[in-house]
Amino acid sequence: MISVQDGQNRILTQIGEVTALEFLPLGRALGRVVAEDVRAPFDVPPTDNSAVDGYAVASADLPAAGTRDLAVVAELPAGSVFDGALLPGQAVRIMTGAPIPHGADTVYPQEDVERLDGRVRIGPTAKGANVRIGGEDIHAGTIVIERGTVLRPQEIGLIASLGQVQVPVHRRPRVVLLSTGDEVVEPGRARAPGQIYDANRFTLSGSIEQCGGEVVDLGIVPDVRDELRARLLDAGATGDVVVTSGGVSVGVYDLVRDVLEEIGAIEFAQVAMQPGRPIAFGRIGSAHFFGLPGNPVASMLAFMLFVRPAIYKLGGRRRLFPDVYEARASEAMRKKKGRREFKRGILTFRGGVWEVRTTGPQGSGILSSMAAGNCLIVLEEQRGDVAAGEMVLVEPF
Ligand code: AMP
Ligand code: MG
Repeated sequence: MISVQDGQNRILTQIGEVTALEFLPLGRALGRVVAEDVRAPFDVPPTDNSAVDGYAVASADLPAAGTRDLAVVAELPAGSVFDGALLPGQAVRIMTGAPIPHGADTVYPQEDVERLDGRVRIGPTAKGANVRIGGEDIHAGTIVIERGTVLRPQEIGLIASLGQVQVPVHRRPRVVLLSTGDEVVEPGRARAPGQIYDANRFTLSGSIEQCGGEVVDLGIVPDVRDELRARLLDAGATGDVVVTSGGVSVGVYDLVRDVLEEIGAIEFAQVAMQPGRPIAFGRIGSAHFFGLPGNPVASMLAFMLFVRPAIYKLGGRRRLFPDVYEARASEAMRKKKGRREFKRGILTFRGGVWEVRTTGPQGSGILSSMAAGNCLIVLEEQRGDVAAGEMVLVEPF
């Protein structure tokens, strides 16, 4: 059995390729991964301009003490440019964002001066006051957004400010998803005794979308070898990634590993973790294959640990793993040495201290623990039982 980290490394070394590049209009690029560095074609702001509504003057005209009167020779709304150059003794009325006239280098806010008929009376101020320098935000030619960055509203605004209408992004990795199990029924259908509704296809498709993948839903397959084989072959020819849940442990009807060994390849099938020990990784056709456990918490957790970084890497993202923090355990927790355990936790900030407790019962079938929690509590391999007050690692959802 391999460790969580070995599993992650082995998966990531199998993923060399990234999805192709496509161009999207800015309005459709939210959440997508930038495929090429975005560089500024010009300075932002493009010219020196006024940070306030006021009067542009030359620093040579600034009084060292007392006041001086300057002739107001023009009015400059934002968006218009002063054609001439300021002469000694002159000022230009200027609005926020308007380019600083030639000859001027300092702006007085409107409220700091006295306006006399045709003139303005100014006092001492610092040279360069209230001027935004051309290029102070971004210099022409510099990288504004690195490839591998996920586009948030602010990055999209930044690209728009460079005058671009589209952006190169990676195609979303295509993830084929199916549930296995004779007992698993589609929600909305009648449920016979002994049957359960399919939860995993819903937690997993949401998880796939959240991490930027495109879901191809192949539904539920019964534990029938021929049907499973046919559906998996279909899946392997369709997606960049194939994700199944259920049927990967060692029960009589756990056929996924068997079938995969026949039509694909398995790289590993067990990881020293709890929950989620049975988790198979391999290949089928041209796709990477993940056989996740059937228990709802285990399948979602295995997705977070193994499938998410794989989708991120395939989709060109730079950051593959979430940040981990430390918090004080406010209760004791059972922990077996030799495997990594994950509990669903509730993280709070109280009296200046980050504290975490479990959500209650931690069975791998208790999906409500995922809903009640706001983080994972990560207990490393070498660790034994945790006493209240000890520090533990937490990974916010
Ligand atoms: P298995 O690994 O197939 O034996 O499944 C382990 C447990 O997870 C069993 O109790 C299954 O009924 C349950 N399970 C399997 N698939 C799903 C699913 N799609 N949604 C909810 N529970 C499931
Ligand atoms: Mg099953």
